[in-house]
Amino acid sequence: MASLIQRRISGKLRRIWNPCSCRRRLFSSASSSSGTEVSGIEKILVANRGEIACRIMRTARRLGIRTVAVFSDVDRDALHVRSADEAVRIGPPPARASYLDASAILDAALRTGAQAIHPGYGFLSESAKFAQLCEAKGLTFIGPPASAIRDMGDKSASKKIMGMAGVPLVPGYHGEQQDAEFLKREADKIGYPIIIKPTHGGGGKGMRIVQQPKEFMDSLLGAQREAAASFGINTILLEKYIMRPRHIEVQVFGDKQGNVIHLNERDCSLQRRHQKIIEEAPAPRISKDFRFHLGEAAVSAAKAVSYHNAGTVEFIVDTISGEFYFMEMNTRLQVEHPVTEMIVGQDLVEWQIRVANGEPLPLSQSQVPLNGHAFEARIYAENVPKGFLPAAGVLHHYCPVEVSQTVRVETGVVQGDAVSVHYDPMIAKLVVWGEDRKSALIKLKDCLSKFQVAGLPTNIDFLQKLANHQSFAEGLVETHFIEHFKSDLFVESGSTALKETYSIAEINAAFAVACMCSFIREKSEATFRGRGDLLHMWYSDPPFRMHHSAKQIFELEWDEESDGSKTEILKIYLHYQPDGSYLIETGSDASNKLEVKVTRLGNSNFRVDANGLISDISLASFTKENYMHIHLWHGGRHHHFRQKIEPKWSHEDVSGHHPVATDPSSNHPRGSILAPMAGLVVKVLVENGAMVEAGQPVLVIEAMKMEHVVRASRSGCVSGLHVSSGQQIFDNEALFVVKGSEDP
Ligand code: ADP
Ligand code: ADP
Ligand code: MG
Repeated sequence: MASLIQRRISGKLRRIWNPCSCRRRLFSSASSSSGTEVSGIEKILVANRGEIACRIMRTARRLGIRTVAVFSDVDRDALHVRSADEAVRIGPPPARASYLDASAILDAALRTGAQAIHPGYGFLSESAKFAQLCEAKGLTFIGPPASAIRDMGDKSASKKIMGMAGVPLVPGYHGEQQDAEFLKREADKIGYPIIIKPTHGGGGKGMRIVQQPKEFMDSLLGAQREAAASFGINTILLEKYIMRPRHIEVQVFGDKQGNVIHLNERDCSLQRRHQKIIEEAPAPRISKDFRFHLGEAAVSAAKAVSYHNAGTVEFIVDTISGEFYFMEMNTRLQVEHPVTEMIVGQDLVEWQIRVANGEPLPLSQSQVPLNGHAFEARIYAENVPKGFLPAAGVLHHYCPVEVSQTVRVETGVVQGDAVSVHYDPMIAKLVVWGEDRKSALIKLKDCLSKFQVAGLPTNIDFLQKLANHQSFAEGLVETHFIEHFKSDLFVESGSTALKETYSIAEINAAFAVACMCSFIREKSEATFRGRGDLLHMWYSDPPFRMHHSAKQIFELEWDEESDGSKTEILKIYLHYQPDGSYLIETGSDASNKLEVKVTRLGNSNFRVDANGLISDISLASFTKENYMHIHLWHGGRHHHFRQKIEPKWSHEDVSGHHPVATDPSSNHPRGSILAPMAGLVVKVLVENGAMVEAGQPVLVIEAMKMEHVVRASRSGCVSGLHVSSGQQIFDNEALFVVKGSEDP
């Protein structure tokens, strides 16, 4: 029976996700659209970028609808542009001047003859004004009515509406009065801890948790300041802070005929900085009854604002009392919508297009299935040890897992693309489906271990730790999960496992060397033995000769701490054997001895036989900043080694892409402050030449939803401060120097 269901679901999934086999209409099962094409809309402009733009275009293409992309100057060659039938430049890189420029986007739609605009998520998706402008120009906005966006965009107003509709609310104050003394009295009435939220906020920005009455005023000012800067309006609301909450949200859908249904819930409790990183559907460990009530509340919420199209009603669940409360409604397609698609076997973008076109919903509430379990892991360019700071840079190597009926990779980038500081640093969404939570989790772990990204820091390693955590396996999720289990998730240095980790690193360094050597050897045999350009730096002095017994020593750098704070040199002694295999010794006293045979399986994949133990390895190498970087995926883990190179050497890349120009290394003077992340300067707080105290804020930088204050490291005089507000800076760029009195 189970396998029958599996087959049926698989069949359905295949129909949706494999564009070649999507001949049959999804909507034919239930309703009036009766197997015909979407009538009316023939061309859609997608007012977004990255993975979501690509994902929307995929559905449009399947429906025979032509697509128009818009792009800023940095995105001219981006995947979303290449995925579209036509593309229009809308401005320079900053979002304000391009993807948030409503009139440029409307112009592009009119110029290309698009009849509808899909806003994706973020950017203009929750702008009531934009939705209105579309309609005013005779363009269909693929999303909810402007009035619902407006009502729900204001967290205070939406709470009022929800309260009247009988949807349970977190105890708090969400009125108009914004006088500080008044708010303080309200906070005292609610009882601490409380949370202060911007009424027009999003993305976890500007929120402040207040533990005690005496902290209230400072937090209020901070929240108001950040709200004004980020959302242009500084009104806030107060809520009781739920101590052990889960974030559970319900996917709702409405049509223009007034039908509203829900498509089950998603659990999005795994968050860092109030932002989701792993989501799943359905929510683990909830009863049928609870699901039913949650769904009913969500549908009431949507009906209260005459909703149509896709929306998400977010609830906060108090795991101690078991109560759930309305938190907010997101009036758009959500980042994590694919997990819902996987368990209901439907394409929500198709639903969006059809509903926008005036068609009724294809399913009634009782027809909505719930099959199996799905996870989504968001793969970000970010610096986990630095507190999840957003990262930027070039994807020197990018090789996501293979997609199938049960594995989806939603991405907007390809190898060689850059993750820009101007936009969200999400690289991809990995979505997996299994018959139950357990099998879906096995798949998630497997896919994460094979998802290859190199060239910039990512959170993949961290996602693996989350997915492998025992409490996660048990479905014991809550929003403080990461904080709560930080000692498991951020493995500390000096642990007793160090010796073992060390030799794992040594063995993998040995494999890296063996694979590189065998690759180069193969290449040089394939061309002409002894040709110097292929026998790159590793063999330049003395030239390595084929079939000669020879010994070489390699020194690979390895970060014992992932933040680069502790680097080790691993010595690898490699003896070439006449039969083509290698004898490798590692360890400070060359005590690890390995007999290694390497077979290349194709591209950058190798099979390695080490002392009779056979395993597969993927390798990527590239040069960057005077180093050759070697990345290795082996045994479910990602290893990274570096070897210093002299700039005169050029190098051919194992994974077949072009070497990247190397930067001259620079030495920074004492007292230099380097940028902790790539981003944009939002504020310069002191002038060049000013005297500062240690710890005094000097600059504020921002990268996608995250502000970071750069402070003086010591007391002294600021020099070399030449950045200005709005300027782009790069990770580790020297920002200024604080000169102490003793300095020259
Ligand atoms: P979710 O609750 O689904 O995480 P968020 O409100 O955090 O929704 O934002 C959803 C997505 O919208 C983000 O991942 C990001 O890609 C995009 N986004 C949010 N704010 C902005 C912004 N100011 N500029 C561009 N994109 C944004
Ligand atoms: P945003 O618009 O930024 O997404 P939300 O109101 O949806 O803001 O809250 C974001 C996250 O903050 C939630 O997912 C939850 O983790 C946390 N949070 C929000 N309200 C509360 C609360 N009252 N108590 C505890 N945590 C909360
Ligand atoms: Mg939210």
